[in-house]
Amino acid sequence: MEDPNKQPNSGQTAGENKSLNFIEQIIEEDIRTEKYGKRVHTRFPPEPNGYLHIGHAKSICLNFGLSKKYGGKCNLRFDDTNPTKEDTEYVDSIKEDVKWLGFDWDGEYYASDYFETLYEYAVKLIKKGKAYVCDLTQEEIAATRGTVTTAGTLSPFAQRSIDENLDLFARMRKGEFEDGTKVLRARIDMASPNMLLRDPILYRILHAEHHRTGNDWCIYPMYDFAHGQCDSIEHITHSICTLEFEVHRPLYEWFIKELEIYAPQQIEFARLNINYTVMSKRKLLSLVQENVVNSWDDPRMPTICGLRRRGYTPEALQNFAEIISVAKRDNVIDVSLLEHCLREDLNKKAQRVMAVLNPIKLILTNYPENGEELLDAVNNPEDISTGLRKVPFSRELFIDQDDFMEVPQHKFFRLSPGNEVRLKSAYIIRCNDVIKNADGSIKELHCTYDANTRTGLSDSNRKVKGTIHWVSVRHAVEIETRLYDKLFLPENPEDIEEGEDFRSNLNPDSLKITSSFAEPFIKNMKPLDKVQFERVGYFCVDADSTSEKPVLNKTVGLKGSWQKTV
Ligand code: ATP
Ligand code: MG
Repeated sequence: MEDPNKQPNSGQTAGENKSLNFIEQIIEEDIRTEKYGKRVHTRFPPEPNGYLHIGHAKSICLNFGLSKKYGGKCNLRFDDTNPTKEDTEYVDSIKEDVKWLGFDWDGEYYASDYFETLYEYAVKLIKKGKAYVCDLTQEEIAATRGTVTTAGTLSPFAQRSIDENLDLFARMRKGEFEDGTKVLRARIDMASPNMLLRDPILYRILHAEHHRTGNDWCIYPMYDFAHGQCDSIEHITHSICTLEFEVHRPLYEWFIKELEIYAPQQIEFARLNINYTVMSKRKLLSLVQENVVNSWDDPRMPTICGLRRRGYTPEALQNFAEIISVAKRDNVIDVSLLEHCLREDLNKKAQRVMAVLNPIKLILTNYPENGEELLDAVNNPEDISTGLRKVPFSRELFIDQDDFMEVPQHKFFRLSPGNEVRLKSAYIIRCNDVIKNADGSIKELHCTYDANTRTGLSDSNRKVKGTIHWVSVRHAVEIETRLYDKLFLPENPEDIEEGEDFRSNLNPDSLKITSSFAEPFIKNMKPLDKVQFERVGYFCVDADSTSEKPVLNKTVGLKGSWQKTV
Protein backbone atom coordinates (compact mmCIF):
# COMPACT_ATOMS: atom_id res chain seq x y z
CA MET A 1 0.00 0.00 0.00
CA GLU A 2 2.75 2.47 0.95
CA ASP A 3 5.65 3.32 -1.29
CA PRO A 4 8.79 2.73 0.79
CA ASN A 5 10.66 5.42 -1.14
CA LYS A 6 8.26 8.14 -0.12
CA GLN A 7 9.68 10.98 1.92
CA PRO A 8 7.88 11.82 5.16
CA ASN A 9 4.95 14.19 4.59
CA SER A 10 5.81 14.71 0.95
CA GLY A 11 4.57 11.53 -0.58
CA GLN A 12 1.05 12.67 -1.29
CA THR A 13 -0.20 15.18 -3.76
CA ALA A 14 -2.16 18.06 -2.30
CA GLY A 15 -5.35 16.58 -3.70
CA GLU A 16 -4.85 13.24 -1.99
CA ASN A 17 -3.95 14.89 1.25
CA LYS A 18 -7.01 17.08 1.19
CA SER A 19 -9.27 14.08 0.83
CA LEU A 20 -7.99 12.63 4.10
CA ASN A 21 -9.48 14.00 7.27
CA PHE A 22 -7.11 14.86 10.12
CA ILE A 23 -7.65 11.54 11.87
CA GLU A 24 -6.90 9.60 8.69
CA GLN A 25 -3.77 11.67 8.28
CA ILE A 26 -2.61 10.68 11.77
CA ILE A 27 -3.42 7.02 11.13
CA GLU A 28 -1.65 6.94 7.78
CA GLU A 29 1.41 8.53 9.34
CA ASP A 30 1.33 5.93 12.14
CA ILE A 31 1.05 3.14 9.58
CA ARG A 32 3.96 4.60 7.68
CA THR A 33 6.16 4.83 10.77
CA GLU A 34 4.85 1.48 12.03
CA LYS A 35 4.08 3.08 15.35
CA TYR A 36 1.76 0.20 16.14
CA GLY A 37 3.30 -2.21 13.68
CA LYS A 38 0.86 -1.04 10.97
CA ARG A 39 -2.10 -2.06 13.14
CA VAL A 40 -5.31 -0.02 13.34
CA HIS A 41 -7.59 -0.96 16.22
CA THR A 42 -10.38 1.40 17.27
CA ARG A 43 -13.32 1.04 19.63
CA PHE A 44 -16.76 2.48 20.21
CA PRO A 45 -17.20 2.93 23.99
CA PRO A 46 -20.79 3.80 24.99
CA GLU A 47 -21.96 3.99 28.56
CA PRO A 48 -25.11 1.82 28.77
CA ASN A 49 -27.13 4.55 30.48
CA GLY A 50 -29.48 5.44 27.65
CA TYR A 51 -30.30 4.89 24.01
CA LEU A 52 -27.84 5.99 21.36
CA HIS A 53 -28.48 9.19 19.43
CA ILE A 54 -27.28 10.46 16.07
CA GLY A 55 -24.13 11.88 17.68
CA HIS A 56 -23.22 8.33 18.62
CA ALA A 57 -24.04 7.24 15.07
CA LYS A 58 -21.36 9.67 13.92
CA SER A 59 -18.85 8.12 16.34
CA ILE A 60 -19.85 4.59 15.28
CA CYS A 61 -19.45 5.36 11.58
CA LEU A 62 -16.11 6.97 12.31
CA ASN A 63 -14.62 4.21 14.45
CA PHE A 64 -15.95 1.26 12.48
CA GLY A 65 -15.35 3.10 9.21
CA LEU A 66 -11.66 3.69 10.00
CA SER A 67 -11.08 0.09 10.99
CA LYS A 68 -12.70 -1.03 7.75
CA LYS A 69 -10.77 1.43 5.62
CA TYR A 70 -7.42 0.36 7.07
CA GLY A 71 -8.13 -3.35 7.36
CA GLY A 72 -8.11 -3.10 11.15
CA LYS A 73 -10.42 -3.98 14.01
CA CYS A 74 -13.05 -2.19 16.04
CA ASN A 75 -14.31 -3.24 19.46
CA LEU A 76 -17.63 -2.50 21.06
CA ARG A 77 -16.88 -1.67 24.66
CA PHE A 78 -19.43 -0.83 27.27
CA ASP A 79 -18.13 1.73 29.68
CA ASP A 80 -20.17 0.39 32.60
CA THR A 81 -18.65 2.00 35.68
CA ASN A 82 -21.79 3.78 37.00
CA PRO A 83 -23.97 0.90 38.24
CA THR A 84 -26.86 3.07 39.43
CA LYS A 85 -27.48 4.58 35.99
CA GLU A 86 -26.86 1.57 33.78
CA ASP A 87 -28.98 -1.31 32.63
CA THR A 88 -28.98 -4.34 30.32
CA GLU A 89 -31.94 -2.81 28.49
CA TYR A 90 -29.50 -0.15 27.25
CA VAL A 91 -26.80 -2.71 26.44
CA ASP A 92 -29.25 -4.60 24.22
CA SER A 93 -30.51 -1.50 22.47
CA ILE A 94 -26.95 -0.31 21.79
CA LYS A 95 -26.03 -3.63 20.19
CA GLU A 96 -29.15 -3.57 18.06
CA ASP A 97 -28.47 -0.01 16.91
CA VAL A 98 -24.83 -0.65 15.98
CA LYS A 99 -25.85 -3.72 13.96
CA TRP A 100 -28.68 -1.88 12.28
CA LEU A 101 -26.26 0.87 11.25
CA GLY A 102 -24.40 -1.85 9.36
CA PHE A 103 -21.43 -2.63 11.60
CA ASP A 104 -20.13 -5.71 13.32
CA TRP A 105 -17.67 -5.49 16.19
CA ASP A 106 -14.54 -7.60 16.50
CA GLY A 107 -14.81 -7.96 20.25
CA GLU A 108 -17.58 -7.22 22.73
CA TYR A 109 -16.08 -5.99 25.98
CA TYR A 110 -17.18 -4.36 29.19
CA ALA A 111 -15.16 -2.15 31.51
CA SER A 112 -16.60 -4.38 34.24
CA ASP A 113 -14.69 -7.33 32.69
CA TYR A 114 -11.57 -5.54 33.85
CA PHE A 115 -12.59 -4.60 37.39
CA GLU A 116 -10.05 -7.01 38.87
CA THR A 117 -7.24 -5.75 36.65
CA LEU A 118 -8.16 -2.14 37.34
CA TYR A 119 -8.06 -2.90 41.06
CA GLU A 120 -4.57 -4.34 40.65
CA TYR A 121 -3.54 -1.25 38.70
CA ALA A 122 -4.72 0.89 41.62
CA VAL A 123 -2.73 -1.24 44.05
CA LYS A 124 0.30 -0.76 41.83
CA LEU A 125 -0.07 3.02 42.03
CA ILE A 126 -0.41 2.84 45.82
CA LYS A 127 2.76 0.77 46.01
CA LYS A 128 4.57 3.38 43.93
CA GLY A 129 3.40 6.08 46.33
CA LYS A 130 1.24 7.50 43.56
CA ALA A 131 -2.17 6.98 45.14
CA TYR A 132 -3.70 7.39 48.59
CA VAL A 133 -6.93 6.79 50.43
CA CYS A 134 -8.56 10.11 51.32
CA ASP A 135 -11.27 10.59 53.96
CA LEU A 136 -12.35 14.06 52.87
CA THR A 137 -15.98 14.36 51.83
CA GLN A 138 -16.96 15.22 48.24
CA GLU A 139 -17.58 18.80 49.34
CA GLU A 140 -14.22 19.07 51.12
CA ILE A 141 -12.43 17.69 48.10
CA ALA A 142 -14.14 20.21 45.86
CA ALA A 143 -13.41 23.05 48.28
CA THR A 144 -9.69 22.22 48.54
CA ARG A 145 -9.15 21.76 44.81
CA GLY A 146 -8.38 25.46 44.31
CA THR A 147 -9.34 27.53 41.29
CA VAL A 148 -7.94 28.02 37.82
CA THR A 149 -5.74 30.80 39.18
CA THR A 150 -4.92 29.44 42.64
CA ALA A 151 -3.39 26.12 43.62
CA GLY A 152 -5.35 23.59 45.63
CA THR A 153 -4.35 22.41 49.09
CA LEU A 154 -2.97 18.99 49.68
CA SER A 155 -5.26 16.58 51.49
CA PRO A 156 -4.14 15.85 55.08
CA PHE A 157 -4.48 12.16 54.13
CA ALA A 158 -1.92 12.40 51.33
CA GLN A 159 0.79 11.63 53.91
CA ARG A 160 -0.56 8.17 54.73
CA SER A 161 2.01 5.40 54.46
CA ILE A 162 1.92 2.93 51.59
CA ASP A 163 1.04 0.12 54.00
CA GLU A 164 -1.83 2.05 55.53
CA ASN A 165 -3.14 2.90 52.06
CA LEU A 166 -2.91 -0.74 50.94
CA ASP A 167 -4.78 -1.85 54.04
CA LEU A 168 -7.50 0.82 53.74
CA PHE A 169 -7.99 0.21 50.02
CA ALA A 170 -8.38 -3.55 50.64
CA ARG A 171 -10.93 -2.81 53.33
CA MET A 172 -12.79 -0.41 51.03
CA ARG A 173 -13.13 -3.33 48.65
CA LYS A 174 -14.32 -5.64 51.43
CA GLY A 175 -17.17 -3.31 52.20
CA GLU A 176 -16.06 -2.08 55.62
CA PHE A 177 -16.89 1.55 54.88
CA GLU A 178 -20.03 3.45 54.05
CA ASP A 179 -20.64 5.15 50.70
CA GLY A 180 -18.88 8.50 50.47
CA THR A 181 -16.62 8.03 53.49
CA LYS A 182 -13.42 7.32 51.57
CA VAL A 183 -12.03 7.58 48.06
CA LEU A 184 -8.79 6.55 46.42
CA ARG A 185 -6.98 9.51 44.85
CA ALA A 186 -3.97 9.76 42.59
CA ARG A 187 -1.08 11.77 43.97
CA ILE A 188 -0.23 14.09 41.11
CA ASP A 189 -0.02 17.87 41.51
CA MET A 190 -2.38 20.08 43.52
CA ALA A 191 -0.92 23.12 41.74
CA SER A 192 -1.31 21.85 38.20
CA PRO A 193 -2.93 24.36 35.84
CA ASN A 194 -5.01 21.40 34.66
CA MET A 195 -7.59 20.94 37.44
CA LEU A 196 -8.04 17.30 36.48
CA LEU A 197 -4.48 16.59 37.62
CA ARG A 198 -5.11 17.91 41.15
CA ASP A 199 -5.15 14.53 42.86
CA PRO A 200 -8.12 13.12 40.93
CA ILE A 201 -10.39 10.46 42.40
CA LEU A 202 -9.72 6.95 41.09
CA TYR A 203 -12.23 4.92 43.10
CA ARG A 204 -15.34 5.67 45.12
CA ILE A 205 -17.36 3.49 47.47
CA LEU A 206 -20.77 2.61 46.09
CA HIS A 207 -22.82 -0.19 47.63
CA ALA A 208 -24.88 -0.69 44.49
CA GLU A 209 -25.77 -3.70 42.41
CA HIS A 210 -24.16 -3.73 38.99
CA HIS A 211 -26.07 -5.09 36.00
CA ARG A 212 -23.24 -7.52 35.25
CA THR A 213 -21.11 -7.99 38.35
CA GLY A 214 -24.05 -7.97 40.78
CA ASN A 215 -22.80 -7.35 44.30
CA ASP A 216 -19.21 -8.46 43.72
CA TRP A 217 -17.98 -4.92 44.07
CA CYS A 218 -18.75 -2.02 46.34
CA ILE A 219 -15.99 0.21 44.97
CA TYR A 220 -16.10 1.39 41.38
CA PRO A 221 -13.43 3.08 39.24
CA MET A 222 -14.03 6.57 37.90
CA TYR A 223 -14.29 7.10 34.14
CA ASP A 224 -10.77 8.53 33.90
CA PHE A 225 -9.23 5.61 35.73
CA ALA A 226 -11.09 3.07 33.59
CA HIS A 227 -11.16 4.38 30.08
CA GLY A 228 -7.51 4.59 29.08
CA GLN A 229 -6.63 1.39 30.88
CA CYS A 230 -9.40 -0.48 29.04
CA ASP A 231 -8.02 0.93 25.78
CA SER A 232 -4.59 -0.29 26.85
CA ILE A 233 -5.76 -3.79 27.82
CA GLU A 234 -7.48 -4.18 24.43
CA HIS A 235 -4.41 -2.85 22.61
CA ILE A 236 -6.39 -0.10 20.96
CA THR A 237 -4.21 1.99 18.66
CA HIS A 238 -6.33 5.11 18.16
CA SER A 239 -8.73 6.00 20.96
CA ILE A 240 -11.03 8.50 19.30
CA CYS A 241 -13.24 10.64 21.50
CA THR A 242 -14.96 14.01 21.54
CA LEU A 243 -13.30 17.36 22.28
CA GLU A 244 -14.37 17.64 25.90
CA PHE A 245 -11.86 14.89 26.64
CA GLU A 246 -8.93 16.91 25.34
CA VAL A 247 -8.24 18.20 28.86
CA HIS A 248 -8.40 14.63 30.16
CA ARG A 249 -5.62 13.55 27.84
CA PRO A 250 -2.71 14.41 30.23
CA LEU A 251 -4.41 12.27 32.86
CA TYR A 252 -5.03 9.45 30.37
CA GLU A 253 -1.31 9.53 29.55
CA TRP A 254 -0.22 9.88 33.19
CA PHE A 255 -1.96 6.64 34.19
CA ILE A 256 -0.52 4.72 31.24
CA LYS A 257 2.98 6.00 32.00
CA GLU A 258 2.84 5.34 35.75
CA LEU A 259 1.32 1.89 35.26
CA GLU A 260 3.94 1.13 32.61
CA ILE A 261 1.40 -0.46 30.29
CA TYR A 262 0.77 -0.43 26.54
CA ALA A 263 0.05 3.11 25.32
CA PRO A 264 -2.76 3.84 22.91
CA GLN A 265 -3.18 7.31 21.45
CA GLN A 266 -6.16 9.50 22.29
CA ILE A 267 -7.43 11.72 19.46
CA GLU A 268 -10.25 14.22 19.90
CA PHE A 269 -12.77 15.46 17.35
CA ALA A 270 -15.73 17.87 17.59
CA ARG A 271 -18.95 16.25 18.71
CA LEU A 272 -21.87 16.39 16.34
CA ASN A 273 -24.48 19.04 17.09
CA ILE A 274 -27.57 19.50 14.96
CA ASN A 275 -29.89 22.48 15.11
CA TYR A 276 -33.47 22.20 16.46
CA THR A 277 -32.57 19.27 18.67
CA VAL A 278 -30.86 18.33 21.91
CA MET A 279 -28.17 15.68 21.93
CA SER A 280 -27.56 14.39 25.39
CA LYS A 281 -28.75 11.11 26.80
CA ARG A 282 -29.66 12.81 30.06
CA LYS A 283 -31.92 15.35 28.35
CA LEU A 284 -33.42 12.77 26.03
CA LEU A 285 -34.14 10.56 29.05
CA SER A 286 -36.01 13.42 30.70
CA LEU A 287 -38.24 13.78 27.60
CA VAL A 288 -39.13 10.09 27.86
CA GLN A 289 -39.63 10.10 31.63
CA GLU A 290 -41.86 13.16 31.54
CA ASN A 291 -43.93 11.80 28.63
CA VAL A 292 -43.04 14.70 26.38
CA VAL A 293 -42.49 12.00 23.77
CA ASN A 294 -43.94 8.50 23.83
CA SER A 295 -40.74 6.48 24.07
CA TRP A 296 -37.05 6.40 23.26
CA ASP A 297 -38.02 5.37 19.74
CA ASP A 298 -40.59 8.11 19.27
CA PRO A 299 -40.03 9.20 15.64
CA ARG A 300 -39.40 12.78 16.81
CA MET A 301 -36.39 11.72 18.86
CA PRO A 302 -32.82 12.07 17.52
CA THR A 303 -32.10 8.60 18.87
CA ILE A 304 -30.99 5.94 16.40
CA CYS A 305 -34.11 3.89 17.19
CA GLY A 306 -36.29 6.99 16.78
CA LEU A 307 -34.72 7.79 13.41
CA ARG A 308 -35.17 4.16 12.35
CA ARG A 309 -38.86 4.26 13.24
CA ARG A 310 -39.20 7.59 11.48
CA GLY A 311 -37.95 5.95 8.26
CA TYR A 312 -34.24 6.76 8.20
CA THR A 313 -31.97 4.22 6.52
CA PRO A 314 -28.50 3.13 7.69
CA GLU A 315 -27.12 4.26 4.34
CA ALA A 316 -28.50 7.78 4.78
CA LEU A 317 -26.89 8.07 8.21
CA GLN A 318 -23.60 6.64 6.98
CA ASN A 319 -23.57 9.06 4.10
CA PHE A 320 -24.37 11.96 6.41
CA ALA A 321 -21.47 10.99 8.69
CA GLU A 322 -19.19 10.82 5.67
CA ILE A 323 -20.22 14.22 4.35
CA ILE A 324 -19.87 16.09 7.65
CA SER A 325 -16.50 14.38 8.19
CA VAL A 326 -14.57 15.25 11.37
CA ALA A 327 -13.73 18.69 12.66
CA LYS A 328 -11.41 19.95 15.38
CA ARG A 329 -13.72 22.79 16.39
CA ASP A 330 -17.28 22.62 17.67
CA ASN A 331 -19.94 23.48 15.13
CA VAL A 332 -23.63 22.99 14.46
CA ILE A 333 -24.84 21.05 11.45
CA ASP A 334 -28.04 22.11 9.72
CA VAL A 335 -30.73 19.45 10.03
CA SER A 336 -31.62 20.04 6.39
CA LEU A 337 -28.31 18.38 5.41
CA LEU A 338 -29.38 15.25 7.28
CA GLU A 339 -32.74 15.32 5.52
CA HIS A 340 -31.03 15.85 2.20
CA CYS A 341 -28.99 12.66 2.72
CA LEU A 342 -32.16 10.80 3.59
CA ARG A 343 -34.10 11.98 0.52
CA GLU A 344 -31.24 11.00 -1.76
CA ASP A 345 -31.35 7.46 -0.43
CA LEU A 346 -35.13 7.11 -0.25
CA ASN A 347 -35.56 8.47 -3.75
CA LYS A 348 -33.56 5.48 -5.01
CA LYS A 349 -35.30 2.91 -2.82
CA ALA A 350 -38.81 3.90 -1.87
CA GLN A 351 -41.83 2.17 -3.35
CA ARG A 352 -44.18 4.73 -4.94
CA VAL A 353 -47.77 4.66 -3.74
CA MET A 354 -50.67 7.08 -4.18
CA ALA A 355 -52.33 8.44 -1.06
CA VAL A 356 -54.59 11.40 -0.45
CA LEU A 357 -54.14 13.21 2.84
CA ASN A 358 -56.87 15.88 2.57
CA PRO A 359 -59.51 14.24 0.40
CA ILE A 360 -62.10 15.85 -1.80
CA LYS A 361 -64.41 13.60 -3.82
CA LEU A 362 -64.46 13.62 -7.58
CA ILE A 363 -67.01 11.85 -9.80
CA LEU A 364 -66.34 10.94 -13.42
CA THR A 365 -69.85 11.37 -14.77
CA ASN A 366 -69.07 9.66 -18.11
CA TYR A 367 -67.40 6.61 -16.54
CA PRO A 368 -69.59 3.44 -16.25
CA GLU A 369 -71.44 3.22 -12.89
CA ASN A 370 -69.91 -0.07 -11.77
CA GLY A 371 -66.95 -0.01 -14.07
CA GLU A 372 -63.49 -0.59 -12.79
CA GLU A 373 -60.09 -1.32 -14.25
CA LEU A 374 -56.61 -2.03 -13.07
CA LEU A 375 -54.08 0.45 -14.36
CA ASP A 376 -50.33 -0.04 -14.54
CA ALA A 377 -48.23 2.21 -12.34
CA VAL A 378 -44.45 2.39 -12.05
CA ASN A 379 -43.16 1.15 -8.69
CA ASN A 380 -40.07 3.30 -8.72
CA PRO A 381 -38.99 5.37 -11.72
CA GLU A 382 -35.45 5.51 -10.26
CA ASP A 383 -35.19 1.73 -10.39
CA ILE A 384 -36.96 0.24 -13.39
CA SER A 385 -36.18 -3.30 -12.18
CA THR A 386 -38.89 -2.84 -9.53
CA GLY A 387 -41.47 -3.12 -12.33
CA LEU A 388 -45.13 -2.16 -12.35
CA ARG A 389 -48.07 -2.58 -10.02
CA LYS A 390 -51.81 -2.51 -10.63
CA VAL A 391 -53.83 0.39 -9.27
CA PRO A 392 -57.64 0.11 -9.29
CA PHE A 393 -59.53 2.91 -11.02
CA SER A 394 -63.27 3.61 -10.89
CA ARG A 395 -65.92 6.29 -11.26
CA GLU A 396 -65.48 7.90 -7.84
CA LEU A 397 -62.06 9.13 -6.79
CA PHE A 398 -60.42 11.10 -4.01
CA ILE A 399 -58.01 13.84 -4.92
CA ASP A 400 -56.23 16.24 -2.59
CA GLN A 401 -57.93 19.51 -1.68
CA ASP A 402 -54.71 21.33 -2.54
CA ASP A 403 -54.97 20.11 -6.13
CA PHE A 404 -58.21 21.96 -6.77
CA MET A 405 -58.96 25.69 -6.86
CA GLU A 406 -62.38 27.00 -7.70
CA VAL A 407 -60.86 30.31 -8.73
CA PRO A 408 -57.35 29.40 -9.84
CA GLN A 409 -54.44 31.66 -9.03
CA HIS A 410 -52.01 32.73 -11.71
CA LYS A 411 -49.94 29.69 -12.79
CA PHE A 412 -52.12 27.18 -10.96
CA PHE A 413 -51.96 24.21 -13.37
CA ARG A 414 -53.89 21.68 -11.35
CA LEU A 415 -57.63 21.15 -11.42
CA SER A 416 -60.10 24.05 -11.69
CA PRO A 417 -63.51 24.48 -13.32
CA GLY A 418 -63.23 24.12 -17.11
CA ASN A 419 -59.62 23.04 -16.86
CA GLU A 420 -57.90 19.72 -17.63
CA VAL A 421 -55.33 17.71 -15.70
CA ARG A 422 -53.87 14.25 -15.99
CA LEU A 423 -54.59 11.77 -13.25
CA LYS A 424 -51.27 10.06 -12.64
CA SER A 425 -50.97 6.68 -14.44
CA ALA A 426 -54.57 7.14 -15.66
CA TYR A 427 -56.54 9.60 -17.83
CA ILE A 428 -56.90 13.26 -18.62
CA ILE A 429 -59.98 14.67 -16.96
CA ARG A 430 -61.90 17.95 -17.15
CA CYS A 431 -63.77 19.59 -14.29
CA ASN A 432 -67.29 20.60 -15.30
CA ASP A 433 -69.14 21.27 -12.05
CA VAL A 434 -68.50 22.06 -8.42
CA ILE A 435 -71.26 20.66 -6.19
CA LYS A 436 -71.62 22.44 -2.84
CA ASN A 437 -73.04 21.56 0.56
CA ALA A 438 -75.64 23.78 2.19
CA ASP A 439 -72.90 25.60 4.10
CA GLY A 440 -71.11 26.49 0.88
CA SER A 441 -68.27 23.99 1.29
CA ILE A 442 -67.39 21.73 -1.62
CA LYS A 443 -69.25 18.40 -1.62
CA GLU A 444 -67.85 16.90 -4.79
CA LEU A 445 -66.46 17.71 -8.18
CA HIS A 446 -68.13 16.50 -11.34
CA CYS A 447 -65.67 15.72 -14.08
CA THR A 448 -65.46 13.83 -17.37
CA TYR A 449 -62.57 11.70 -18.51
CA ASP A 450 -61.15 11.23 -21.99
CA ALA A 451 -60.95 7.47 -22.62
CA ASN A 452 -58.29 7.91 -25.32
CA THR A 453 -55.77 9.39 -23.00
CA ARG A 454 -54.93 6.47 -20.74
CA THR A 455 -51.27 6.48 -19.79
CA GLY A 456 -49.42 4.02 -22.02
CA LEU A 457 -51.93 4.09 -24.91
CA SER A 458 -50.36 5.00 -28.24
CA ASP A 459 -52.51 8.09 -28.64
CA SER A 460 -52.11 9.19 -25.05
CA ASN A 461 -49.62 11.86 -25.96
CA ARG A 462 -51.96 14.77 -25.53
CA LYS A 463 -50.23 17.10 -23.11
CA VAL A 464 -51.78 18.96 -20.23
CA LYS A 465 -49.89 21.13 -17.79
CA GLY A 466 -50.72 19.43 -14.50
CA THR A 467 -50.60 15.87 -13.19
CA ILE A 468 -52.24 15.00 -9.88
CA HIS A 469 -52.52 11.86 -7.78
CA TRP A 470 -55.74 10.14 -6.79
CA VAL A 471 -57.22 7.10 -5.04
CA SER A 472 -60.32 5.16 -6.07
CA VAL A 473 -62.97 5.69 -3.37
CA ARG A 474 -64.29 2.13 -3.58
CA HIS A 475 -60.82 0.64 -3.18
CA ALA A 476 -59.32 3.18 -0.82
CA VAL A 477 -57.67 1.90 2.33
CA GLU A 478 -58.04 4.18 5.31
CA ILE A 479 -54.71 4.75 6.97
CA GLU A 480 -53.49 6.68 9.98
CA THR A 481 -50.86 9.23 9.04
CA ARG A 482 -48.62 10.65 11.74
CA LEU A 483 -47.20 13.94 10.61
CA TYR A 484 -44.14 15.14 12.48
CA ASP A 485 -42.60 18.53 12.83
CA LYS A 486 -39.52 19.69 14.73
CA LEU A 487 -39.56 18.79 18.41
CA PHE A 488 -38.14 22.20 19.38
CA LEU A 489 -39.01 25.62 17.96
CA PRO A 490 -35.71 27.58 18.21
CA GLU A 491 -32.60 26.59 16.33
CA ASN A 492 -30.75 26.14 19.58
CA PRO A 493 -33.18 24.67 22.13
CA GLU A 494 -30.54 24.99 24.85
CA ASP A 495 -30.29 28.73 24.42
CA ILE A 496 -32.59 29.64 27.29
CA GLU A 497 -33.24 32.48 29.70
CA GLU A 498 -31.93 32.06 33.19
CA GLY A 499 -34.25 29.98 35.34
CA GLU A 500 -35.93 28.44 32.32
CA ASP A 501 -35.69 24.88 31.14
CA PHE A 502 -34.88 23.65 27.63
CA ARG A 503 -38.32 22.05 27.62
CA SER A 504 -39.93 25.49 27.45
CA ASN A 505 -38.75 25.49 23.83
CA LEU A 506 -40.78 22.45 22.82
CA ASN A 507 -42.96 22.71 19.72
CA PRO A 508 -46.55 22.03 20.87
CA ASP A 509 -47.47 20.89 17.34
CA SER A 510 -44.68 18.41 16.73
CA LEU A 511 -47.15 15.61 16.05
CA LYS A 512 -50.39 15.73 14.10
CA ILE A 513 -52.34 12.53 13.61
CA THR A 514 -54.64 12.44 10.61
CA SER A 515 -56.63 9.95 8.65
CA SER A 516 -55.85 9.50 4.95
CA PHE A 517 -56.70 7.26 2.02
CA ALA A 518 -54.22 5.12 0.12
CA GLU A 519 -54.33 2.70 -2.79
CA PRO A 520 -54.71 -0.98 -1.76
CA PHE A 521 -51.01 -1.71 -2.32
CA ILE A 522 -50.38 -0.22 1.11
CA LYS A 523 -51.81 -3.38 2.66
CA ASN A 524 -48.81 -5.39 1.41
CA MET A 525 -46.42 -3.38 3.48
CA LYS A 526 -44.93 -4.24 6.83
CA PRO A 527 -43.34 -2.20 9.61
CA LEU A 528 -40.23 -0.24 8.56
CA ASP A 529 -41.14 -0.52 4.85
CA LYS A 530 -40.67 2.80 3.14
CA VAL A 531 -42.89 4.46 0.57
CA GLN A 532 -43.04 7.67 -1.32
CA PHE A 533 -46.60 8.97 -1.37
CA GLU A 534 -46.44 10.50 -4.80
CA ARG A 535 -46.22 14.27 -4.72
CA VAL A 536 -46.54 14.27 -0.90
CA GLY A 537 -43.45 12.88 0.81
CA TYR A 538 -41.71 9.84 2.19
CA PHE A 539 -43.48 7.68 4.76
CA CYS A 540 -42.55 4.64 6.77
CA VAL A 541 -44.86 1.91 8.05
CA ASP A 542 -45.01 2.08 11.85
CA ALA A 543 -44.80 -0.84 14.26
CA ASP A 544 -48.33 0.06 15.45
CA SER A 545 -49.64 -0.83 11.99
CA THR A 546 -52.21 -3.62 11.56
CA SER A 547 -53.72 -5.06 8.40
CA GLU A 548 -57.04 -3.41 9.32
CA LYS A 549 -55.46 -0.06 10.04
CA PRO A 550 -52.10 0.71 8.49
CA VAL A 551 -50.19 3.41 10.36
CA LEU A 552 -47.60 5.50 8.53
CA ASN A 553 -45.05 7.94 9.89
CA LYS A 554 -44.13 10.88 7.75
CA THR A 555 -40.38 10.59 7.31
CA VAL A 556 -39.61 13.73 5.35
CA GLY A 557 -41.17 15.88 2.65
CA LEU A 558 -40.11 15.67 -0.98
CA LYS A 559 -38.30 18.98 -1.05
CA GLY A 560 -36.06 20.65 1.46
CA SER A 561 -34.10 23.82 1.75
CA TRP A 562 -30.75 22.09 1.37
CA GLN A 563 -30.89 21.55 -2.41
CA LYS A 564 -30.85 25.30 -2.88
CA THR A 565 -27.46 25.64 -1.28
CA VAL A 566 -25.62 22.66 -2.76
P1 ATP B 1 -24.24 12.06 26.09
O1 ATP B 1 -23.50 13.31 26.42
O2 ATP B 1 -25.27 12.20 25.04
O3 ATP B 1 -24.74 11.33 27.28
P2 ATP B 1 -21.86 10.59 26.09
O4 ATP B 1 -20.69 11.18 25.40
O5 ATP B 1 -21.92 10.64 27.55
O6 ATP B 1 -23.15 11.16 25.42
P3 ATP B 1 -21.11 7.91 25.74
O7 ATP B 1 -21.95 6.70 25.86
O8 ATP B 1 -20.08 8.15 26.78
O9 ATP B 1 -22.10 9.12 25.66
O10 ATP B 1 -20.48 8.01 24.28
C1 ATP B 1 -19.95 6.94 23.55
C2 ATP B 1 -19.09 7.51 22.45
O11 ATP B 1 -19.86 8.31 21.58
C3 ATP B 1 -18.01 8.38 23.02
O12 ATP B 1 -16.80 8.08 22.36
C4 ATP B 1 -18.47 9.77 22.73
O13 ATP B 1 -17.40 10.65 22.60
C5 ATP B 1 -19.25 9.57 21.43
N1 ATP B 1 -20.27 10.61 21.29
C6 ATP B 1 -21.24 10.94 22.16
N2 ATP B 1 -21.95 11.99 21.73
C7 ATP B 1 -21.42 12.35 20.54
C8 ATP B 1 -21.72 13.37 19.58
N3 ATP B 1 -22.70 14.25 19.76
N4 ATP B 1 -20.97 13.42 18.46
C9 ATP B 1 -19.98 12.54 18.25
N5 ATP B 1 -19.65 11.56 19.11
C10 ATP B 1 -20.35 11.45 20.24
MG1 MG C 1 -20.47 9.75 28.83
